[in-house]
Amino acid sequence: MRPAKVAIIGGGVAGLSAAVTLAHAGVNVTVFEASSQLGGRARGVAYKGLTLDNGQHILLGAYRETLRLLALADAKTSTSLLRLPLSLRVTDLQRNTTLLLQTPRQLPAPLHLLFGLLNANGLSVRDKWFAICMMLWLKLHHFQLEQDQPLLAFLSLQKQTEPLIQKLWEPLCLAALNTPLQIASAQVFLNVLKDSFNQKTQDSDLLLAATDLTSLISTPFANFVTEHGGEVLLNAPVKQITPQSDGYLIATAAQSMDFSHVVIACGPHQLTQITSDLPSLHGLVEQLTYQPITTVYLQYEQHIQLAQPMQGLINSVSQWVFDRGQLCGQPGLFAVVISAHAPFEQTQQALADSVHQELLGLIPSLKQPLWHKVITEKRATFSCEVKLNRPNNQTSYKDLYIAGDYTAGDYPATIEGAVRSGVNAANLLLASA
Ligand SMILES: Cc1cc2nc3c(=O)[nH]c(=O)nc-3n(C[C@H](O)[C@H](O)[C@H](O)COP(=O)(O)OP(=O)(O)OC[C@H]3O[C@@H](n4cnc5c(N)ncnc54)[C@H](O)[C@@H]3O)c2cc1C
Repeated sequence: MRPAKVAIIGGGVAGLSAAVTLAHAGVNVTVFEASSQLGGRARGVAYKGLTLDNGQHILLGAYRETLRLLALADAKTSTSLLRLPLSLRVTDLQRNTTLLLQTPRQLPAPLHLLFGLLNANGLSVRDKWFAICMMLWLKLHHFQLEQDQPLLAFLSLQKQTEPLIQKLWEPLCLAALNTPLQIASAQVFLNVLKDSFNQKTQDSDLLLAATDLTSLISTPFANFVTEHGGEVLLNAPVKQITPQSDGYLIATAAQSMDFSHVVIACGPHQLTQITSDLPSLHGLVEQLTYQPITTVYLQYEQHIQLAQPMQGLINSVSQWVFDRGQLCGQPGLFAVVISAHAPFEQTQQALADSVHQELLGLIPSLKQPLWHKVITEKRATFSCEVKLNRPNNQTSYKDLYIAGDYTAGDYPATIEGAVRSGVNAANLLLASA
C-alpha cells in the first residue's frame, strides 16, 4: 500500500487541527487555504498599524483539545492567553444595576460556582435559590436532558427568574451559542456548562487572547505542520474534488494534484461549491441556518480603562465589552461584541455612535472615540438550535472526511468544536489508513 498523502481543504481552526494531528503522526499533509491568510473565522485583521481580530473571542478552561493541541504545537500560551478565574460583571444600563459573580480558585468545582452564586451581587435571595436548585438538578441528571428543547423553555421549567435569565443565562447563551435563547438548544448549552463547572475549578476559567487570533492559533499550528514535513498553501482555493480509482484529484486554479485521502474543512456554506463530483455531500448542511456577530472597535485615549477586562451589558445594543488595553497591550481600544443580532439598519458610523453612547453609562467621562472600526461576520456561526442533524466527520466516500465546527459533536460553533472536529477527522483517517 502506498503511504497516505492527505489534502486538507481549508486552513481554519478545524483544518489546521486535522493537519497538526496528521503531521504529528508522520503523515504527509498539504493544507489548501483559499484566502491570503490562515484562521478562517478566527483571524487577525490589520488596521491602522494594529492587529485587531475579525471578532473578539473568548476561550474557556474547558477547551481541553484546544489547549492540548496548542501545547503540542509549542504555542506560548503562558504569554499569549490571559487566564482569569470566572468573573462575570453584567450591567443593566436602563435600570443601572450590576450583577457581579466571582468564583474563587480555592474551592473545588462545582462548590466554587455555588459560592459564587451565594455571594453574587445584583441577585435576590430568591434568584440565587432558583439558580442553585437548577445547578443541583443538572448535577443530579448529569447535565443530560431526556429530550432537547429551547433553552428559554428549559429555564422556565426550572423556574429561573427574569433577572436570572436576563443577567446571567441570556448573556452566557449568546456568548457560548451565538443563538437567541428562544431557539437555542438547551442540551448544547448544558454540554458547555457541564464541561465548565462539573470537573475542575480551572475549567470555568476565562481564557482571553493576549495577542491576535492568527498569532495565537494559526501561526503555531501552521509552523508545526511545516516543521513536520507538511505544506501549507495560501491563495489556493480548491475548485473541484474528483474521485479517482485510488484517491482524489484536487484542482485549484493553478494545478491539479493527486491525493490518497481528503479532509474537507471549509465552512458549511462553502461545501457545495467544491463538491459537484461528490453528490452525497450535498444534503448534509441544508438544515443549517446562520447567525451573525458584529464587533465594534472604538479607540479612546490611551488612559481609558474598564473596571475589568471584560464587561457584560444588557438592555442595550452592546452585549460584551472587552478592554484590549488590559488584554493585549492596545491601550484605550475597546472591542464591543454584538451576537446573534437582526440586520442593522443604521450606518456603521451610527452604530459606533450608539455603542459609544452606551459606554458612557459605564465611563461617564468618555470623550468621542478617536476612530472606530465595525466588522460584521454575517455567517459567524451556525444557529445552534434544537435537534440539529449535524453531519459526521466520516462520509459515505472512502478516505474522504469532513471537519468543521458544524460537524456532529457536543459543542456549539466554537474554537473547541472546530478543534475537536479536526482531531476526530484525522483520527478516523489514521485508524483507517
Ligand atoms: C466574530 C466571531 C466571534 C466568535 N467568537 C467565538 C468565541 O468567543 N469563542 C469561540 O470558541 N468561538 C467563537 N467563534 C467561532 C469560531 O471562530 C469558529 O467556530 C471557528 O473558527 C470555525 O473554524 P472552522 O475551521 O470550522 O471554519 P472556518 O474558520 O470557516 O474555516 C474554513 C476555512 O476554509 C477556507 N476555505 C473555504 N473554501 C475553500 C476552498 N474552496 N479552498 C480552500 N480553502 C477554503 C476558508 O477560507 C477558511 O479559512 C466566533 C466566530 C466569529 C466569526
